Amino acid sequence: MCGIIGVENNENAAVLASAGLLTLQHRGEESAGITISGSEKMRTFKAMGLVSRIFNEEILLNKLPGTVAIGHVRYTTSSKSSLINAQPFQISCIHGNISVAHNGNITNFSKIKELLLKKGAIFNHTSDTEILLHLIAMSKGSFADIIANSLRKLEGAFSLVILKDRTLIGARDSNGFRPLVLGKIDNSYIISSESAAVEVIGGKYIRDIKPGEIIVIEDGQIKKSLIYKKGRRQTSCIFEQVYFSRPDSVMFEQTIKEARVKMGEYLAQQMKNIKADIVMPVPDTGYFAALGFSRTSGILFENGFIRNHYVGRSFIKPSQNLRNLTSTLKLRPIGEVVNGKEIILIDDSIVRGTTSKRLMNILKKTGAKKIHFALSCPPIIDSCYYGIDTPSREYLIAANNSVEEIKEYLNVDSLNFLSLDNLIKACSADNKKSDVFCAACFTGKYPTKISKST
Ligand code: AMP
Repeated sequence: MCGIIGVENNENAAVLASAGLLTLQHRGEESAGITISGSEKMRTFKAMGLVSRIFNEEILLNKLPGTVAIGHVRYTTSSKSSLINAQPFQISCIHGNISVAHNGNITNFSKIKELLLKKGAIFNHTSDTEILLHLIAMSKGSFADIIANSLRKLEGAFSLVILKDRTLIGARDSNGFRPLVLGKIDNSYIISSESAAVEVIGGKYIRDIKPGEIIVIEDGQIKKSLIYKKGRRQTSCIFEQVYFSRPDSVMFEQTIKEARVKMGEYLAQQMKNIKADIVMPVPDTGYFAALGFSRTSGILFENGFIRNHYVGRSFIKPSQNLRNLTSTLKLRPIGEVVNGKEIILIDDSIVRGTTSKRLMNILKKTGAKKIHFALSCPPIIDSCYYGIDTPSREYLIAANNSVEEIKEYLNVDSLNFLSLDNLIKACSADNKKSDVFCAACFTGKYPTKISKST
């Protein structure tokens, strides 16, 4: 998964892009980068690590002068995690200097790469995004035509920001798998993965970029907006709402927070026969669903876990003998909340089941009397080919075990998953948009052809 942002027609483009990237940091912590253009020669600065470590005042103000910027935060899904694959990718070609930042996963990447290799193309990265650069370099016509012709050849998930001179382009695949929004701050347009990033930097969310749309912006004006390809139907990733996106971002006319509250309300309706002393979230993603559950069921909401936000991904993966030492480092239960209680514990999802198993052990050790574990989505039974980092089927606990078997494995008193119907109802403001989501991770039904090499 990744986060992308573009800011144009602004003297502070690099600073605003870096603040936007900080807001999108949850979408990728491995690397971050910004390309700047507009007043001077295009340049890109990128590095491994967190946005706050990479972009300091000296780099933003002295090394990234210009008025148009695109930025990227990366979380590897389809290729190696290394600086060479950090984005944006800046190239020099027949059309001049161009830079691209991509969120998603191009599913016919291997096929196109093979064709390009046969034509003599040279590849520097292992990322799927690189094929787009070759396609752009080989296309002819206006800049918008070049991009449209190139994107028509791609399948799968791609939300993009593209930069050339003072022109900023935003584009989304025809299924609209990954989010992409348009916003404005004064006389500058912003394109971002999530509306929260637009608003945090002082802008206003205007609308979503439509599935299959290319929008061309220059000097504070929308020069062109075209639908380059019509999809059969919109299939936006529903897991964005369950887990990935920020609660303060807007999707399908409501905040993600509101969607998660509704997920909890529906879960409470599904579990009305279960009584407990408290409802407790697994922080942070279980928080709003637990709130909704509590409001509907009337069962007291309690915050019984303290999360340590400073334990990064890079912290040692504990070996067996260190596991006890580190098991409560990231999430620690508060004894007085948990001890002797019958608890409804709400988390967003079970993937491999290892996190849940650890949490149940910790809660039992802290004296929980009974645990009713509830998830704000259905069992994940298949991998994602559209940019979410789910492991292959063999590692997905729900692909290989029944709900009863998972309940036994976790040693909980009950185990409940939100039904797909209820999840879909929760994910739009009018509760009625049933045919606009990709739910392949819960159903195994993929909305596009998947070639096996992806
Ligand atoms: P596990 O079942 O141990 O694999 O971990 C499940 C937890 O990981 C869930 O509670 C989510 O909060 C979180 N999670 C779900 N999907 C992802 C993902 N694609 N990348 C990272 N964490 C995830």
